[in-house]
Amino acid sequence: MSEKIFVTKSYLPPQEEYIAYLNGIWERHHLTNQGPLVLELEQKLRQYLGLEHLHFSSNGTIVLQMALKALRITGEVITTPFSYCATSHAIAWENATPIFADIRKEDLCIDPDCIEALITPKTQAILATHVYGIPCQIERIEAIAKQHGLYVIYDAAHTFGVQYKGKSLLSYGDVSTCSFHATKVFHTVEGGMITTPNAELSEQLKLYRSFGHVGDDYFDIGINAKNSEFHAAMGLCNLPKVDEIIAGRRRVTESYDQHLNWEKLTKPTIPADVEWNHAYYPVFFETEADLLKVRDALAAQNIFVRRYFYPSLNTLSFLHAHQSCPVSEYMAVRALSLPLYPDLPDHDVERIISIINENL
Ligand SMILES: *Cc1c(COP(=O)(O)O)cnc(C)c1O
Repeated sequence: MSEKIFVTKSYLPPQEEYIAYLNGIWERHHLTNQGPLVLELEQKLRQYLGLEHLHFSSNGTIVLQMALKALRITGEVITTPFSYCATSHAIAWENATPIFADIRKEDLCIDPDCIEALITPKTQAILATHVYGIPCQIERIEAIAKQHGLYVIYDAAHTFGVQYKGKSLLSYGDVSTCSFHATKVFHTVEGGMITTPNAELSEQLKLYRSFGHVGDDYFDIGINAKNSEFHAAMGLCNLPKVDEIIAGRRRVTESYDQHLNWEKLTKPTIPADVEWNHAYYPVFFETEADLLKVRDALAAQNIFVRRYFYPSLNTLSFLHAHQSCPVSEYMAVRALSLPLYPDLPDHDVERIISIINENL
C-alpha cells in the first residue's frame, strides 16, 4: 500500500536554517517574553503584510478571545455557523452569546442580509470568518456595523497571503486575527497574531497578551498569550518561503480544477478582486451519501480528507443556539477538503482525481 496522504502536510524548512536560529537562542538564553526573534518576526510580518500594528501570539484562538475582551463584548455577537469551532467557542468562552447568521451559498461566508435580520439592542459585534481565505462581503458588513454601532472582528485564520483590493485581507475590520498553526499556509508550529488599525487598541492588546502587565503594575486582567523564540524561529524560516508555498499549492489546485467532474461537484467562487492563497481545496457534493462514499473510497487507498467545515456550528448542542441556518446546514454536510500542499506529487493528484470521479 502506498504512503498515507493527509489533507495537508506542514512545510518544514531545511533543518540547518532552523538550527542556525537555535544556536543564537543557546547563546542568548532569552527563550520567551518578546525576545529578539519574536521582535524580528513581528517586524518582518508587518512588512510582508503591510500592517502597522500586529502582535505575534500563542495561537489563533486566544487572539479571538483577546479581541472580545479588549472590546468589552459581553452581549450578543452575530457570527458565522460555517467555520472552525474556535470562532464560536471563543465567543462562548468569553461568556458572550453567539448568534448565528446564515451564509451565502456561492462563497460560504456570512450573509449580510441575515446579519441585519438578527440585530437586537444586545448586539455588540459581528465576528465573521473569511472562510477558506475567501473575503466576506466586507463593504456591506462595514456599512451595517456603522449604522448600528457594532464592532467588526474578522477571524482571518485562513487568510495569510490573501490580497483583497490590493491590500492584505488582514487589514480590514476593527480587529483581525490569524492562526499560524502547523496546518495553515504560513505556520510557526503553534501561533497566531492579532492586528487592528487602531493604535490605542493595539497598545491594549499588547498588554492583554502579557498578563496585563505595565512594568511591575497592571492595567487590567490579562492573559498569557505570548509566544516563544522557538516558534518565532520557525516563522522566520518559513516566511521567506510563503510565496513559493502558495505557488506550489496553486499548481495542485489547477489540476483539480481541470480534471474533477464538475457535473457532480461544485466549488466556491473566488471573486476577481481577490488574490487567493489556495488555503484549502473544498468541494461540495450533491448529497452527503455521495460525500461519504468518496471519503471511504479515498480512505481505502490511504488518502485521508477532512470534512471542513462540519458540522454547521449552530447545531452544536452545547452552544444552545436557536437560529436555524439552512444554507450552512445544507453545505456543511456536503463539504470536503481535498489534499493540498506544495509537494503533493502529480501522480498522487491524478490518483485522487480518478478515485473521486470513479465514485461519483
Ligand atoms: C485554525 C483556526 C482557528 C484556530 O487557530 P489555532 O491557532 O489552532 O488556535 C480559528 N479559526 C479558524 C477559522 C481556524 O481555521
